[in-house]
Amino acid sequence: MEAVAITLDIDWAPDFVIDHVAGLLAAAQVPATWFVTHASPAVDRLRQRPDLFELGVHPNLMAGSTHGDTPDAVLAHMCALVPEAVSLRTHALVQSTPLFARVVQQTPWVNDVSLFLPYVPHLRPAAFRVGGGVLCRLPCFWSDAQEMSQPQPDWRVADGWLEMPGLKVFAFHPIHIALNSGNVGAYEALKRQVPRLDQAQVQDVDRLAQHAPGTRTAFLDLLERLAGDARVGTIREHGERWREEFSA
Ligand SMILES: [Zn+2]
Repeated sequence: MEAVAITLDIDWAPDFVIDHVAGLLAAAQVPATWFVTHASPAVDRLRQRPDLFELGVHPNLMAGSTHGDTPDAVLAHMCALVPEAVSLRTHALVQSTPLFARVVQQTPWVNDVSLFLPYVPHLRPAAFRVGGGVLCRLPCFWSDAQEMSQPQPDWRVADGWLEMPGLKVFAFHPIHIALNSGNVGAYEALKRQVPRLDQAQVQDVDRLAQHAPGTRTAFLDLLERLAGDARVGTIREHGERWREEFSA
């Protein structure tokens, strides 16, 4: 499976950051899946582009979550937040068999992208039978945060990783695109200045944006390369195609 997907963990990014990244995707006409953390006017604007954007959910199942105190409460909150969602990636990749049993039984979500296998070639979706149903697990191949964690990050993503064989799901954080993060320094400085990220202003982000190759340059290179590329689609589309082949 040579499918490619661009995914974005919104992670409470401010609206101007969401709008900016959505504009870059729309200008390149590259589809993407957004994993939503909260309601906002910018999320509603994403919802108005179903031709280009899929809205999935990004539930926070950790202690102190604003999504709810128990797994059941978190799942119910996310179902109400994005009723149309069929795809999920959990915040911080929290996962367990009992959690996925709940997902199958209590939500309409059928595609999970919470499994991260960085830089592994020949990836393909897997059928995970759990809770009396089947979840399509599409492993994630690359993330901006993981690239920052490499001993020597290489942001020429479009020239290298894109041409690896197999399914390639790229995970970006809009705030790292806005900051052009090449390491976590700018993000940590922003969090010190604005502890509630959704309240950050344009000038807060602009002042801290990095100028060496980083998340933004990798994202722009990818968009340029993927414009008009038939391999690229949303998680929903890749899941649907997989289910057709799986049941054939
Ligand atoms: Zn997250």
